[in-house]
Amino acid sequence: MRTLITNGTVVTADGSYPADVLIVDERIAGIGVGLAQMANVTVDETIDAAGKYVIPGGIDVHTHMKLPFGGTFAKDDFFTGTRAAAFGGTTSIVDFAVQSKGKSLRDGLDAWHALAEGNAVTDYGFHMIMSDVTDDSLKEMDQLVDEGIPDFKLFTAYPGVFFSDDGAIFRAMQQTAKNGGLIMMHAENGMAIDVIAADTVAAGTTDPIGHGLARYSILEGEATNRVIRLAQSAKVPVYIVHLSAKEALNEVRRARDEGLPAFAETCPQYLFLSLDDLGHGFEGAKFVCSPPLRTEDHQPELWKGLQKDDLQVVSTDHCPFDFHGQKDLGKGDFRKVPNGLPGVEDRLDLLHDGGVVGGKLTKERWVEIVSTAPAKLFGMYPKKGAIAVGSDADLVVYDPNRRHTISAKTHHMAVDYSCYEGRTVQGGSDIVMSRGSVVVRNGEFTGTKGAGKFLKRAPADYARMA
Ligand SMILES: [Zn+2]
Repeated sequence: MRTLITNGTVVTADGSYPADVLIVDERIAGIGVGLAQMANVTVDETIDAAGKYVIPGGIDVHTHMKLPFGGTFAKDDFFTGTRAAAFGGTTSIVDFAVQSKGKSLRDGLDAWHALAEGNAVTDYGFHMIMSDVTDDSLKEMDQLVDEGIPDFKLFTAYPGVFFSDDGAIFRAMQQTAKNGGLIMMHAENGMAIDVIAADTVAAGTTDPIGHGLARYSILEGEATNRVIRLAQSAKVPVYIVHLSAKEALNEVRRARDEGLPAFAETCPQYLFLSLDDLGHGFEGAKFVCSPPLRTEDHQPELWKGLQKDDLQVVSTDHCPFDFHGQKDLGKGDFRKVPNGLPGVEDRLDLLHDGGVVGGKLTKERWVEIVSTAPAKLFGMYPKKGAIAVGSDADLVVYDPNRRHTISAKTHHMAVDYSCYEGRTVQGGSDIVMSRGSVVVRNGEFTGTKGAGKFLKRAPADYARMA
């Protein structure tokens, strides 16, 4: 199968230029001006991308398909979740396999392979959530690095569930110093937050706004500094997930100014939504995630972080729960609202609209944040995240001018509400290819359930040398 994308503007992290892109089977085979006119290029299909961008498919390195949380499960599975991602121009996800307390990493990993295999529409990889650091699970980490799962997420939040104490975190970091892996951290001081949350409920605030009020941003800053200094002591890189607060950003910035290999992502919800959304009585449950949505004054700081590369990635933390039947587990006590928001479908368009159209990011930086940087940091580059000869043909023909209105009525995520209901955005994915196959064409799904393959990823060399 040979496909030619003609007349488009190729946009990469390094620059933009007019060029045709030739795809042979699953890979990019040629890039150049006038490929269409060359006598020796015959193709099965020609896609006209006049007036459009041709970008590497988006890579979302933070999703939770089917995550068990608070007695229920995130709604999207690997079929609906990767299909929704593809509609939004994202062609690879890295999801979090979960080690349950008392179980091995292997048990958790096997369960996630079973969830994804035969279901995913596009390619997928796994990080491993470690909830139980023991001599055995430390040894298992080395094996997982060899199997293409080189990242391990630990939590200073959620005591009694995912929480690890500083000693456990430090031991896991020491292990990655030896095996080449990367530690990802959910950095909030969960012990203190649980005390404040209990006080908040006792004082009579049980609505979801209490979730936002109890999880102080300074306690995200504190935990961020702590895990960065633990990583510095263990002499390893560290990656802060879903950074939401300026106090935390300041700690990452300080570490990077010192030359430490500290990295961080933020998420669209922290750039576009705020504490106000947690109000309006129980409606606020739609916006309950951790860290919580912050006051609006944090947003310009996060944009600045993206501009100056103190934040390298925007991922979604996609973890959808229905408002009716799941979020309402927390009626009368915000601590029982399942934590998580839908978002895997909207990331590229929100960032294009708010970032590129909004004058905060160049289109090249946009591509870097949503595709190229995650590919590099998580061992997928240049197979993914690049438009280069030999790279996988995960490509998006992106219309930078088309406008559409985000709504639960039209989105493809398996969840009954949208956090961005009624918001009109400029920019949309017209044609989405996964390894050379068109999976979305002008709003129609044309992919195949189970066509996605497990991404065996390389150790975190980039994080060690960047
Ligand atoms: Zn998460």
